[in-house]
Amino acid sequence: MNTTAPDRYTGRFAPSPSGPLHFGSLIAALGSYLQARSQAGRWRVRVEDLDPPREVPGAADDILRTLEAFGLHWDGELVYQSRRHGRYQEILEHWTRRGLTYHCHCTRKQIAARGGLYTGHCRNLGLPAEGAAVRLKMTAPVYHFHDRLQGEVCVAERLAEEDFIVRRRDGLYAYNLAVVIDDMDAGITEVVRGADLLEPTVRQIALFRLLKAPEPAWLHLPLAVHDGHKLSKQNHAPPLDNRAPGPALWQALAFLGQQPPAELFGAGAAELLAWAVPNWRLERVPKGPQIELDYADSSHFQRPALS
Ligand code: GLU
Ligand code: ZN
Repeated sequence: MNTTAPDRYTGRFAPSPSGPLHFGSLIAALGSYLQARSQAGRWRVRVEDLDPPREVPGAADDILRTLEAFGLHWDGELVYQSRRHGRYQEILEHWTRRGLTYHCHCTRKQIAARGGLYTGHCRNLGLPAEGAAVRLKMTAPVYHFHDRLQGEVCVAERLAEEDFIVRRRDGLYAYNLAVVIDDMDAGITEVVRGADLLEPTVRQIALFRLLKAPEPAWLHLPLAVHDGHKLSKQNHAPPLDNRAPGPALWQALAFLGQQPPAELFGAGAAELLAWAVPNWRLERVPKGPQIELDYADSSHFQRPALS
């Protein structure tokens, strides 16, 4: 199950096709891209179409077209999680044979009534599979990890120790399960993504260890938020404009603390990236984890004053 450790930096961007890319997702795409390219590394793209009810038809293709319009060209084959169920199941069964999983019939409501976090209610009940979620026994919880930007990150004990769901009651594979198997199989050496995923990282590290797979480095970029909420369609984050990638790309570089020259505002994507790759400085990226963005007046997409 252990894949050989790659010698070369390999990063990735893993969008969920729940809608078009907006400024918030561009930060993760661009940050992971620059972190890889500035080290002559590979940059892969994985479509996280794990949860069909939350998908928007056409969104995956839309996202990929936007990445191309923004000059963010990926290496190798695209990976679609929807085509990897067999692999997820194989690993799940491996754990089940080792007695590491169990069936849980608790509803969200029941868990909420018991205090909100799952504390192993069904662990030793030997419940049937029918209509059950599959949980993993958290035998070696991880409480903290080193993040290359955020520093030492600690999570609540109860969260780290939770027997989390690896396969949902509706049969869908859980994000934490899929993402770790995919990152392992793709030989990802560093995970760069938004700071909204800081907490699940401890669960993912626990899975890497369980799989005896090399653990990637972690780097969580500041999250662009509006009124304290992650940018999303729901709070009117404008979709990116494929015909004019320059301004948003420039602003994304500025958001990441990279000080792009004002003359390059509105330059084409290729020209901006040609500047950004050799000039990428991780130490300039603000630590976040959240940065308020006032896009209501679209000031983030306006031309900066030329100095
Ligand atoms: N698919 C996740 C998202 O769009 C990102 C997963 C990851 O980068 O690990 O929020
Ligand atoms: Zn239960």
